[in-house]
Amino acid sequence: MGGQSEHHRPPSVDSLARALADSSGLPHSILVDIARSAVAEGGDRETIEERAESIAREFSGSLIGEVINATGVLLHTNLGRAPSAMGPPGRPVSIEYDKAAGRRGSRHDPISKLVSLLTGAEAAVVVNNNAAAVLLALAALAEGREVAVSRGESVEIGGGFRVPDVMARSGARLVDVGTTNRTRLDDYRAVAVDPDRDIALLMRVHSSNFEMTGFVESTPVAELVTLGVPVFVDLGSGLLDSNAPWLSAALRPLPTWISAEPAVKQTLDDGADLVAFSGDKLLGGPQCGILAGRADLVERCASHPLMRAFRPGHHILMPLQETLLAYLRRDVTERIPFWSMASVAPEDLAARASVIVDAAGMGTVIRSDAVVGAGAAPGATIESRAVAIDGDITGALRGHTPIPVIARIVDGRTVIDLRSVPAADDPMLIEALRAIRV
Ligand SMILES: *Cc1c(COP(=O)(O)O)cnc(C)c1O
Repeated sequence: MGGQSEHHRPPSVDSLARALADSSGLPHSILVDIARSAVAEGGDRETIEERAESIAREFSGSLIGEVINATGVLLHTNLGRAPSAMGPPGRPVSIEYDKAAGRRGSRHDPISKLVSLLTGAEAAVVVNNNAAAVLLALAALAEGREVAVSRGESVEIGGGFRVPDVMARSGARLVDVGTTNRTRLDDYRAVAVDPDRDIALLMRVHSSNFEMTGFVESTPVAELVTLGVPVFVDLGSGLLDSNAPWLSAALRPLPTWISAEPAVKQTLDDGADLVAFSGDKLLGGPQCGILAGRADLVERCASHPLMRAFRPGHHILMPLQETLLAYLRRDVTERIPFWSMASVAPEDLAARASVIVDAAGMGTVIRSDAVVGAGAAPGATIESRAVAIDGDITGALRGHTPIPVIARIVDGRTVIDLRSVPAADDPMLIEALRAIRV
């Protein structure tokens, strides 16, 4: 290494890029760009090196990466909704291959079978998300025809999903029925029997992310199905069964965010012809959308040209299959992270919180309210425990490496909610807090 003059000479772009390789893990070509821009701004060697390190850190931080979700929002849309414990395998998979016959098979059949066993649906088909499921169903079943929707359900779910817009894109025509707060069976009947109309579907949309209270009325699916027009329900959240038979007796009576949520099985039992729901909300699986119900309707969706654009790959279908098998095995609370988080006892969270406070040497244990998130069960809270720390250290926690911690600010304190954190990550939380204290 050189002396004083060497120290003042700007480093070469190449040596700077190579020096950054170990700490950043970024590809050489990116580091060369970073080194070049750090050198271009001038200054002595030390300034340039520090600048390059900081640009490299910023670049790494801007990439998608694992985080610890300490927000208490179990399904955080910005953090990928339901965390997945089931990664795709590294080997080729028989996604469209009939192993018994040794020829091409159907990518839909295995999942369809499992969804049927769980919900009583005749058949099911999987697409990339629930927005795609709704668009596909409307295009396949109602293109060029009319779909009746209550004015109270012509909603925006978030992320640009607006019922009238999706309807327009599908080629179906929206027919508004009822009023914003009350829509009765007679409102649907009036359009269903009108000879000047061409109603292909009666559609219900779960108002996932908001609540209407007071003088409100909607028409139950069990009544709608008496009108003789196919009923399609966008359930959104994807709760499979409102009795949640996969939860132990310790969690009964069930909280209302489960018991009051419209579920797939009960909606089909009520006679709905087709339902659509997300895979990564209350189902707790990978991002996808599922259409389930009458076999002939599912088949029309599966054979529509849009299906080719919407079909998910094995990296989705394998974890989805695992998720559905966990429901059938009833080991949901062990195997599906969302249901583990949702079902852990508050006392267990309290015990973890005090271990963290002791080990980190900072903060206090407080009671907090976790929420389901992803627009599911608005207003419902799940009792939780958190570590509260005076002041705002959320920025430092977000900057923690290798795994950033995402926390909330409540009344000027940093709140680390443990219900959305798997217990296995507690040591990492402690490490992140210790790093800040130093
Ligand atoms: C969440 C939701 C959607 C959108 O589902 P994605 O899986 O995010 O595409 C559509 N409709 C309802 C009722 C929802 O709750």
